[in-house]
Amino acid sequence: MAANQVNRCVVLNKPLDIVFENRPVPEIGHGDVLVNIKATGICGSDVHYWLSGGVGTFIVKKPMVLGHESAGVIAAVGPGVTHLKVGDRVALEPGIACRMCEQCKQGRYNLCPEMEFAATPPFDGTLCNYYRHAADFCYKLPDHVSLEEGALIEPLSVGIHACRRANVRSGHRVFIFGAGPVGLLCAAAAKAAGAAHITIADITASRLDFAKTYCTDSQVLLERPQQGEPNIEYSRRTAAKILETEELSDVVIDCSGAETCVQTSILLTKNGGSVVLVGMGAQVQSIPISEISSREVDIKGIFRYCNTYPMAVKMLASGAIDVKPLITHSYPLEDAVKAFEHARDGRDNAIKIQILG
Ligand SMILES: [Zn+2]
Ligand SMILES: [Zn+2]
Repeated sequence: MAANQVNRCVVLNKPLDIVFENRPVPEIGHGDVLVNIKATGICGSDVHYWLSGGVGTFIVKKPMVLGHESAGVIAAVGPGVTHLKVGDRVALEPGIACRMCEQCKQGRYNLCPEMEFAATPPFDGTLCNYYRHAADFCYKLPDHVSLEEGALIEPLSVGIHACRRANVRSGHRVFIFGAGPVGLLCAAAAKAAGAAHITIADITASRLDFAKTYCTDSQVLLERPQQGEPNIEYSRRTAAKILETEELSDVVIDCSGAETCVQTSILLTKNGGSVVLVGMGAQVQSIPISEISSREVDIKGIFRYCNTYPMAVKMLASGAIDVKPLITHSYPLEDAVKAFEHARDGRDNAIKIQILG
């Protein structure tokens, strides 16, 4: 099975050093499938690993294949796999949980301590021709959903999970900080969940121009803090200015990780509303605790997602969510370095850059 095939892999050798390696086509065992990867989106975390060799507490200590937002075609199925066959087009959920621990049994398998997640050290990612994956973490795509759309289910899952954690419901007002791919996909998920009004804020005007065309009702251009201005003063000033034209929101989703945005998120939330922290910024931040206590604002962390893929596949299939407009650029596998440089620079209004192989 595919033994004579080439398996080109995009390997992060060390920071700022991406190389191509021909690795053996992986062997598959019971419950596995071999996937011929066709589309992979570049994520902010991939760019971080490339530039600095680490994301938060995850540090690349040995060469690692990059990429985790992928879709492809089944090239082989291992013993015990009954729901997939050779030729099926699938989206890959890139984290394999143990399926045995307390978190897994409660259905919150994203919190599994044994999680093996693609392109999170020490585990290799999906930017290769052939990837071995557990069949139960591969989701068949309907004929009219493209592999490029399938590769966007991973970041879309973050948006769906954020909206679920915040209980976004029909009629809600939702405010989102950060108009990059994840912020936009949070908007798409909130809209699909019935949000009546979605506002998005960013410091980059061109991102808001795009957001105007995608799932949001109003857009706020944020100013940068003034020189020497304490964060909380900036945040209070910014919240007051936003509230001249906006109402308080049922749910605020911060996709920036910036302390000022986290503070402003709390100030923009209705009494009894929720703030979801999606962005990852400074590990320790100062937040207005009195607002949280006296107004019962719920602050919720999220770690990736769980149980989102089946729903996401259905939403793409029905048209409830359209991710196609986010795919602004694509590169062949051999031009992976160019694709990473493009993602780093963000030029030409890039939203999601994909590598097609
Ligand atoms: Zn990602
Ligand atoms: Zn587990």
